Amino acid sequence: MSIHQTDVAIIGAGPVGLFAIFECGMMNLKCHVIDSLEMVGGQCTALYPEKPIYDIPGFPKVLAGDLIERLKKQAEPFEPIYHLGEQVVSLDKTEAGLWHLKTSNGIQIEAKAILIAAGVGAFGPNRPPLAGLEDFEGTSIFYYVKNREDFRDKRLVIAGGGDSAVDWALSLSEIAQKITVVHRRPKFRAAPESEAQLNRLAQEGVIDLIIPFQLEGLSGKEGCLEAVVVKSLGGEIKEISADILLPFYGLAANLGPIAHWGLQLNTTHIMVDPKDCSTNTPGIFAIGDIATYPHKLKLILTGFAEAAQAAHAIRAYVHPNEVYHFEYSTTSGVLVV
Ligand code: FAD
Repeated sequence: MSIHQTDVAIIGAGPVGLFAIFECGMMNLKCHVIDSLEMVGGQCTALYPEKPIYDIPGFPKVLAGDLIERLKKQAEPFEPIYHLGEQVVSLDKTEAGLWHLKTSNGIQIEAKAILIAAGVGAFGPNRPPLAGLEDFEGTSIFYYVKNREDFRDKRLVIAGGGDSAVDWALSLSEIAQKITVVHRRPKFRAAPESEAQLNRLAQEGVIDLIIPFQLEGLSGKEGCLEAVVVKSLGGEIKEISADILLPFYGLAANLGPIAHWGLQLNTTHIMVDPKDCSTNTPGIFAIGDIATYPHKLKLILTGFAEAAQAAHAIRAYVHPNEVYHFEYSTTSGVLVV
């Protein structure tokens, strides 16, 4: 597999990582951006896309999802390369003084500088504790719906009781051959109108509700699921014939390998110099929620300012002999080299 070469590898495509693409671009620095989630936006997309944010300068009120769309658009002229659904698992220095990083699926990037915008850590799905789970992941078990059509005419089991489980059950009931929803409580945690619709479809026989039951086991072979076994709190066992299992148990964040890169940490945060967001390792910078210093305010707007500080510092690090003349964006425009 070829190794991508770039000026800056940004770890994390949350709001702060996205704005850092723009700020680095304004410094003529090209970026590759890696995120363990399948979509950009970090906490804004994963946790509260429909919530309004009131403290972004210039926006009296903006939905978190809309802010992410705008940040992505603002970064577009600089043609960032995104590697989504990839966790950065290792970071080493090459003999040539470059940073070499590897992702969970084997993508390799060599960068002149590293910008960590990893928030509260890599987001990933909460996996049900089932024996043999890995054998079916990616073939019969999925934690996200990338393309609804993949599930047409399939027998689906959806596990979970929150908005994702209920909303996808409603949506996929239009195209699936059969849908069974398994939840360990009698009550769902979804929006009341969605739950009412789910119950209506259950009464009409469109969706099978198996509650209160929890996942107990899987059966099938060579990555092809044949049945999902569920168990009630009282010990009753049922077997549901199924092609696909979609467990929607929410997301967990994990600082993961970043904790082992020799960076100075304060619990789960990286200590940086607030003047330029540099870490204790030359060439590695950190911004946004993951970066800390005395009196740090964990806000998106703080992360935006840190992105600008870090981009200027990275330019000086990558091009130490270049003389830089500061210009406002009103003067320079958005220059893409
Ligand atoms: P994040 O948004 O956390 O993004 C970091 C990204 O890095 C994640 O997508 C993660 O998957 C990825 N990542 C981490 N490690 C790795 C790795 N090893 N490999 C690959 N990818 C990795 N802030 C405000 O300013 N105003 C508000 O009104 C506001 N409201 C909020 C409401 C809620 C419900 C929540 C939960 C937060 C709110 N916040 C608000 C906080 C705000 O969302 C965060 O400050 C902001 O998301 C931080 O951005 P970030 O880019 O630093 O990190």
